[in-house]
Amino acid sequence: METRIFHPEQDKNAVAEAAAILRRGGLLGIPTETVYGLGADALNEDAVRRIFEAKGRPQDNPLIIHIPSADWLARYCRDVPDAAYQLAARFWPGPLTMVYLKSSSVPEEVTGGLDTVAVRMPDNRTALALIRAAGVPIAAPSANLSGKPSPTTADHVKADMNGKIDVIIDGGPCNIGVESTVVSLMGGAVTILRPGGITREMLE
Ligand code: AMP
Ligand code: MG
Repeated sequence: METRIFHPEQDKNAVAEAAAILRRGGLLGIPTETVYGLGADALNEDAVRRIFEAKGRPQDNPLIIHIPSADWLARYCRDVPDAAYQLAARFWPGPLTMVYLKSSSVPEEVTGGLDTVAVRMPDNRTALALIRAAGVPIAAPSANLSGKPSPTTADHVKADMNGKIDVIIDGGPCNIGVESTVVSLMGGAVTILRPGGITREMLE
């Protein structure tokens, strides 16, 4: 497979073309504010399986799905608690991932067989435009080979993923360079599962 590089700043059709590739089950390198993601249509089991193959990631390590606004939460989570909307109002778009009960529309490939799903809204114009254009959430881990550092430029993504994915969208360097904070909202509490830029004090 030849990996193409898209430049959304110069090419007005880049986002629409990338969205069409995503809808056909393709794999994309996607800029976000944290690190570059290796994204696929989160509702397409086969596409999601190919993310794990491209990265060499164990199938039981669940993926984060990316949505363009908090009102998509109820599509992919069951009985969304008020706390989720409160956290979203304060921290989205941004590097906060929330874990809650998944709805049946989310394939088990995404969640590693768990009954919960991790969701976040990235703070990146291109990523948000892409998700809206595709009309589906994007499942994406970092766009590096498993065990390698997370990529913060399109060149880093190319070094690991050239020939393995359809497109890399070059959105320039990532602002943050660190993965999102992951919190669970299960059991009526907010529990930090993975520390990140958003700290316990900020959440409290
Ligand atoms: P990564 O895509 O490697 O940046 O990380 C995604 C991480 O989010 C996983 O490795 C888990 O630590 C966490 N995660 C994703 N989904 C879930 C879930 N359903 N339950 C608990 N943790 C999750
Ligand atoms: Mg990673």
